[in-house]
Amino acid sequence: MFALGQDFFAAGMLDRAESVFQELLESNNKYISKAAICESLRTIYEQTQEWLKAIEATECTKKSLKKDNSDTSGNVVNLDSLITHYYCELADESLQKGNLHEVDGFIDKAKKTYKHSTRLMTLQGDIAFHQKQYKVSLSHYLKAIQHDSRLLSMLFNKIDQSAKHSDDVQFLQKELLKTYHKDQDNNVFEALIQLADKYGSNDKIDKLVNDVLDEKKLSIKSIYKATGYVTDKYLEANDDESAKGLGLVKIHQSLKNHLQGVPSFRCEHCGYKMHDYLWRCPACNHWDTVDQA
Ligand SMILES: [Zn+2]
Repeated sequence: MFALGQDFFAAGMLDRAESVFQELLESNNKYISKAAICESLRTIYEQTQEWLKAIEATECTKKSLKKDNSDTSGNVVNLDSLITHYYCELADESLQKGNLHEVDGFIDKAKKTYKHSTRLMTLQGDIAFHQKQYKVSLSHYLKAIQHDSRLLSMLFNKIDQSAKHSDDVQFLQKELLKTYHKDQDNNVFEALIQLADKYGSNDKIDKLVNDVLDEKKLSIKSIYKATGYVTDKYLEANDDESAKGLGLVKIHQSLKNHLQGVPSFRCEHCGYKMHDYLWRCPACNHWDTVDQA
């Protein structure tokens, strides 16, 4: 029966697969683990985007693993992170419909499941942003990127807008500088340069860019941003035409050519490449497997 369910699933006959697995689950068959059946149901509900049912199936997997003692604690954390994604999907749907009361309920449940989820922090930022509470959205977004700087690729514009609307651009620059000095992270470094390009630089950023170019091992993208910053500074100070033929300008342009069309992210599970960070790989549908390429 289990194999039949799998065949239906593979053929895309999801409702038939669902009823086979449901029947198997109710039969309390001792030859097949309940966790395996619930896991199969979970993948069906993910495809049909029935998130409440997906949560129920994941809870069932969690319970069976605990009961069989076959769980390692890593698995449960993983399942909790999945459940949190599902609650966030539900909250996101409600937010799009403007149903804020429902949003709060889902957020509460997500918090109780896995409060360290960066997806949750991001969504809390989105809710505040939607309600034009820009100081609040900025603080949620900052918390999210301090946990995981890869999120800067998807959050930079919203962080920038939040800071601008709440008159907190300087505060944002200060916070990012602090974060950079703590983790020396290339994404944070690039965000600092991007902000300086937009709002004007200061001595601290000047010193940072110079020190980092001298001492740190940078990604090609960071070198591209940093050389852009230094080049602009030079051209501002020396506006004669000859400065444009400068080696630095050429290197910057060459790095730009090199990076054109190169995807920044890659799924660790299936190798699919993409330009932006995504919670779920669009090719293999695994959650939290997207990493920097
Ligand atoms: Zn993938």
